Amino acid sequence: MIRKNSLHWQILAALALGVGAGLLWPKGSTILGNIHPYAVFDFLGTLFLRALKMVIVPLLAGSIISGVAGVGARRGLGRLFGKTFGWYVTTSLLAILTGLLLVNLIQPGISDGMPVGQRMGLSEAPPELAEKLAGRGAGDIVGIIQRMVPENPVAAAAEGQMLPLIFFCLLFGLAVTTLPEEKRRAQLGFWETLFAAMMKITGWVIATAPLGIFGLMAKITAASGFAAFAPLARYGLTVLGALFIHSVIILPLLIWIIGRVAPQRHIRIMAPALLTAFSTRSSSATLPLTMDRIENGAGVSNRVTSFVLPLGATINMDGTALYECVAAMFIAQAYGVELGFFSQMLVVFTALLASIGAAGIPAAGLVMIAVILEAVGLPLEGLALILAIDPILDMFRTAVNVWSDSCGAVVVARTEGETDVLVK
Ligand code: ASP
Repeated sequence: MIRKNSLHWQILAALALGVGAGLLWPKGSTILGNIHPYAVFDFLGTLFLRALKMVIVPLLAGSIISGVAGVGARRGLGRLFGKTFGWYVTTSLLAILTGLLLVNLIQPGISDGMPVGQRMGLSEAPPELAEKLAGRGAGDIVGIIQRMVPENPVAAAAEGQMLPLIFFCLLFGLAVTTLPEEKRRAQLGFWETLFAAMMKITGWVIATAPLGIFGLMAKITAASGFAAFAPLARYGLTVLGALFIHSVIILPLLIWIIGRVAPQRHIRIMAPALLTAFSTRSSSATLPLTMDRIENGAGVSNRVTSFVLPLGATINMDGTALYECVAAMFIAQAYGVELGFFSQMLVVFTALLASIGAAGIPAAGLVMIAVILEAVGLPLEGLALILAIDPILDMFRTAVNVWSDSCGAVVVARTEGETDVLVK
């Protein structure tokens, strides 16, 4: 934890140094005779982006298969599962729609009527992109649903097609749960190990984030000076505003109406877990504390706690879902691409899937935006725009993820007839 906190500081320092270096050595300048600092910035940033992309496919497969195969082992919990899943999907969708509303109202990717992408260092969107995306209609949704079933799952993985991959992994995980115990355990062991190893690699990649972020920030500033920052700040505020509405208004209203408990009491009890989520940026790392607060603090039964929360830490991420949607919309706006109704619905749908597929570790949500960009047809390079402030937004969205899990536990417990919840 100490190391993780020091990474925060390193990233902040990298942000500041990157901006400083970019201002000092604008694009085109040279040092020591013939070294182009801009090329060095570009090298560092590109390397970091490539490393992030490298982990996506195996991380996603390990996360989903081990998650589904592990949870599926607990049988006889059908009703609990139904309620829990219902809460997760409903609140994630509400979160995404809140984000969608705000990003459409504020339009952080457009400034003075112009897309901000080029000003922020993006290469120009391929001309056919706007046309291709503008013409999307209901037929495309049908097409996408069709393409969710891969003809060849290995090819889907190799080509980085995320939706078919997610679909196949869900199916595979489900199939593993039906195998005889010995076989199921062997498979689960394999996928859990793959997942653990990929989390390690992701951790290493994230450890290089200060260098990567230095490079990206320096590159953006070297190309466009301070002009790049206003849109980034507006984008960050859009995410934070939507997270605020979802966690402070919508979720409390839901637990008050459905669970008939006092939200302010729940917040007080959950505070230590929420702060831990905020500072570790990991719902999985926070899970033990979340369980303690829900069981020993809020008085939810062990039966509900031990089912709802581990599942929630894996698949329920309201904050991440909201963030994915706002980020993808921002990138589309920055490229100057207008997404019509159907494309936006596609963003909503894929944001939901991406949040389910995201692991509860720092920056997992960032990697998953690639899923949406790929599904909608936007260039993955758009990720470069939002990298710099991802760590800060990650803190807030992780706290919202844990907050939604905890609200789910309370609501499920209350609808299961538990009367001791939040009475103290
Ligand atoms: N860090 C988040 C979590 O652990 C996932 C994300 O990056 O959105 O909940």
